[in-house]
Amino acid sequence: MHPDLERLIALQRLDSAADAARRHLAGEPDREKAVDARIEAARQRVATAKEQLAENQNVRRALEKDVALHQGRLSKFRDQAMAVKTNQEFTAVQHEIAFAQTEIKSHEDKVLERMLEADDLTSALKKAEADLAAEQKAIDAERREMIVKHGEMQASLERIAVERAELVAALDKQTLYLFEQVSKKRNGIAVAEARGGVCTICHVRLRPQVFNTVRRNDSILQCDHCNRILYFVHAPAAANTPDASPQPAS
Ligand SMILES: [Zn+2]
Repeated sequence: MHPDLERLIALQRLDSAADAARRHLAGEPDREKAVDARIEAARQRVATAKEQLAENQNVRRALEKDVALHQGRLSKFRDQAMAVKTNQEFTAVQHEIAFAQTEIKSHEDKVLERMLEADDLTSALKKAEADLAAEQKAIDAERREMIVKHGEMQASLERIAVERAELVAALDKQTLYLFEQVSKKRNGIAVAEARGGVCTICHVRLRPQVFNTVRRNDSILQCDHCNRILYFVHAPAAANTPDASPQPAS
């Protein structure tokens, strides 16, 4: 194989790896935000469950106060009932007693409803707290993984820069210029495998003469359609395919 063609394939592999590393690093702030939003949502669910339980307890205390109030009135009317002089007074007091009893019963029923509701709200709160703890744990693990990945990406970029500089220094200047120009125009992919008579990136069929020349891998040839620099992988040496090959046409 033409030594520069081999270098270009290696260069493309490095550029594609660097591109992927940079894309990963660029996506970090969004991933951070998504993680923060998840933990915030879990905290919010706990806060809401606490508010609902507190509200339930407030309502229940108010109802219990009403029960006490009506019980106070009831015992007052019972005392009065002992002291009434006329039938008419007796009827009036009996009426008040009946009313207070009805009110007490009605408020006690409501207290009972609130107590049952409190059971549900308490288990909802417990579940929200458990969910928050689980989410926190998962996110802590994700954050640690993100930090490790960040370090790996940084290290990989540094390693790539060194390797790239070596390749660039060894490359013919014109060939390097051609690579850079095509790379700029073609979304960072300047090198394409030719397979079965077709450029595997733009999928346009090569002229038979061009394909036959590409098969020899002894010159720097470009795809007529996408201008990418072409190479051919002789079976079974398919393991030499650069990572950049399976890219959509551009
Ligand atoms: Zn092409």
